[in-house]
Amino acid sequence: MSRFWSKIVHDLHPYVPGEQPNASNLIKLNTNENPLGPSPLALEAIRAAADDMLRLYPDPQATALRQALARYYGVRPEQVFVGNGSDEVLAHVFVGLLKQDAPLLHPDITYGFYPTYCKLFGIEADPVPLDASFRIRLADYDRPCGAIIIPNPNAPTGIALSRTEIAALLEAHPDRPVVVDEAYVDFGAESAIPLVASHPNLLVVQTMSKSRALAGLRVGYAIGDTALIQALTRVKDSFNSYPLGRPAQAGAIAALEDEAYFQRTRAMVIAERNRLSEGLAKRGFEVLPSTANFVFTRHPAHEGATLAAGLRESAVLVRHFTIPRIADYLRITVGTSAETDALFDALEHCLASDR
Ligand SMILES: *Cc1c(COP(=O)(O)O)cnc(C)c1O
Repeated sequence: MSRFWSKIVHDLHPYVPGEQPNASNLIKLNTNENPLGPSPLALEAIRAAADDMLRLYPDPQATALRQALARYYGVRPEQVFVGNGSDEVLAHVFVGLLKQDAPLLHPDITYGFYPTYCKLFGIEADPVPLDASFRIRLADYDRPCGAIIIPNPNAPTGIALSRTEIAALLEAHPDRPVVVDEAYVDFGAESAIPLVASHPNLLVVQTMSKSRALAGLRVGYAIGDTALIQALTRVKDSFNSYPLGRPAQAGAIAALEDEAYFQRTRAMVIAERNRLSEGLAKRGFEVLPSTANFVFTRHPAHEGATLAAGLRESAVLVRHFTIPRIADYLRITVGTSAETDALFDALEHCLASDR
């Protein structure tokens, strides 16, 4: 606190990201990073972009990257927006599309940045409770609202809605912007992008941080009707004209072009997720059905905080939220097979010592 702070800063509720430790001996299963690393072709493109051209500003429209994304997803470049990570894209979405004259609907248990952005931008929210099995119930969204945002699959539960269900939500609210945050969609859920052509109220947000293992590069994007993209561009050009540097634009294009690497690595993450879920179940954990690169799990006989602290003592980081309904759950990122094995060993130790 300081007398120099603005009122806005006094009132903020900043998002608290998972720990990024300096120690490299920790097994990091707490922030949903991809253990397999980026495409070698992306790394090569990033290195090649580190040349004298860096003295020049990058393309403010990221034209080549937007064209590559448009080709990849079968839309027009005018239907694509890119930003410095999808968190920045989402910030522009909150300002440009979700701040309406009626409350914003989002799940009560969801990505922690949504309430943070509501606070920052003065948006009134009406959180919609997940049902008893932590699912989004579409009928609960049949209420007056200004706009809707849901992650699909939801975070931190990992549970996804089908494309048919997303279509039903869009059709129930044809006059409201509906944003689907697909940060984890590549790990097994159905993308809503094919619905963009027939639903001018739909905006789909994705990221290269998870399925393309480029969290450190900061590239996110949104796909939707041209009018929605124009709104985001107006906000961006009132904030930062050059959100993506030259290496980021080049690396993102190369990552998109390496389809073989993308398919191979996401299949590996999905297979490892299934092994992780089965191993947890075998050790007495309840595991929600995940289509993400993490699982959300609890042990009926052990407190979440105790397990998270015990794991940390064994040098394994997982995410634990001190939020009433989910305080006994752990969100565990899918790591390499060796990391999964180390997690299992550490968990067995915790279960045995916490009696
Ligand atoms: C990780 C995540 C993001 C943000 O990813 P960026 O790294 O900023 O692209 C957005 N939404 C959800 C639900 C996430 O889990």
